Amino acid sequence: MKYVSTRGQAPVLDFEEAMLTGLARDGGLYVPQDIPRMSADEIAALAGVPYEEVAYRVMRPFVARSFSDDDFRAAISRAYAGFGHAARAPLVQMGPNHFLLELFHGPTLAFKDFAMQLIGQLFQTALARSNRRVTIVGATSGDTGSAAIEAFRGLGSVDVFILYPHGRVSEVQRRQMTTPDEANVHAVAVDGDFDDCQALVKAMFNDFAFRDRVGLAGVNSINWARVLAQVVYYFSSAVSLGAPHRPVSFTVPTGNFGDIFAGYIAKQMGLPIDRLVIATNQNDILHRCIAGGDYTKQGVRASISPSMDIEVSSNFERALFMAHDRDGSAVNGLMDELATSGGFRVSENAMTALRADYDSGMVDEAGTSATITRALATTGELLCPHSAVGVDVAERHLQSAPATPMITLATAHPAKFPDAVEAATGIRPPLPNRMSDLYERNERVVRIDNSLSAIETLIEERIAK
Ligand SMILES: *Cc1c(COP(=O)(O)O)cnc(C)c1O
Repeated sequence: MKYVSTRGQAPVLDFEEAMLTGLARDGGLYVPQDIPRMSADEIAALAGVPYEEVAYRVMRPFVARSFSDDDFRAAISRAYAGFGHAARAPLVQMGPNHFLLELFHGPTLAFKDFAMQLIGQLFQTALARSNRRVTIVGATSGDTGSAAIEAFRGLGSVDVFILYPHGRVSEVQRRQMTTPDEANVHAVAVDGDFDDCQALVKAMFNDFAFRDRVGLAGVNSINWARVLAQVVYYFSSAVSLGAPHRPVSFTVPTGNFGDIFAGYIAKQMGLPIDRLVIATNQNDILHRCIAGGDYTKQGVRASISPSMDIEVSSNFERALFMAHDRDGSAVNGLMDELATSGGFRVSENAMTALRADYDSGMVDEAGTSATITRALATTGELLCPHSAVGVDVAERHLQSAPATPMITLATAHPAKFPDAVEAATGIRPPLPNRMSDLYERNERVVRIDNSLSAIETLIEERIAK
């Protein structure tokens, strides 16, 4: 199994290399050269199987010879052992034909644990056998960073630096990043927004001398291994509702497009997914693009669903690559335009390809809050604001397509965003018992300017110790 870059100019890599590299050297993202298919019989055979076994069967062909069967099984088993729910990704019903996929039972209470916990185990296995050391650098709007820190804390062959926008993450998110006391964990508060943090990380990866000197590795959602880990719960949930004999649709609260792109991969593998519905908050560049073909930045406005306050949706590049029949030079052109003029128009042909799989919807701040209130009244569920964005878009979509079961991804636990939930319901959602002392732990963080040299200097100083 080989991986190629969406910009067509980086070396072709195997799974392990693509995982350890993250961003391709031509600035692109790795995608599999061919997407393996599962037969209807193989999909049907996933019914009633434990999550870890579904994970093994779905991901195995993508990993190929990078890990032995035993090593891969062991990594999966360690990755999900710390989850607080036996089903790992349980479904609950929200209404007629509408289901919520709870992806928040991992150690940091957001879906990113599914991928990050696995990546941590796979990095450890790969680095230990080649005696290598890497510096992991990631940008976060809150949830990626805490998930990465939780996955890599205390690992001997890794330092992890997480850049987050100062003052723009929730207190729970911040504390999950700043309270681990292992020496290999470095939380960095940047004076800027999430796109600034993401741009700093990209710039570090494009500084090849620095990249090689510190052994830079990326675990942001651009990392193919993360997308892959997220493919699994599309299978487990769809099969619970009758796939492959019955098609299902998914609505996905979307920011960087990693989670929903995993759904696209599941569909390409043969899972009968009817529609993949992109749900955005007021930062609706993806919705505007699907609706009108125009991907133009308008400036990020902080919302109550901060993990989706994104305009440079990095994994959308993978969707564009597929929509352009894997033409790396076409993607290169669009990304150049985005960098120089702040936007681009998607061609008619590519829009037709995108619309064959994706629908979209947007929810503003008042609508998000109203959905949290309504869901509690009609189902007793407390939704986090991101999940609420998904639920509102899904309910509207269901009105036009009521016959196909809709699964909405609940991307975070309500206790991760207690202020928004309390404002909408009057209830302050408590943290699960296993992390109830979070507010008492000591915090450790370094604050820096939005400057490439400042962050590079910090990293070199810290890893020299
Ligand atoms: C990261 C995140 C999202 C967005 O996921 P993408 O893969 O970036 O589209 C949505 N909700 C929550 C809670 C998140 O942490």
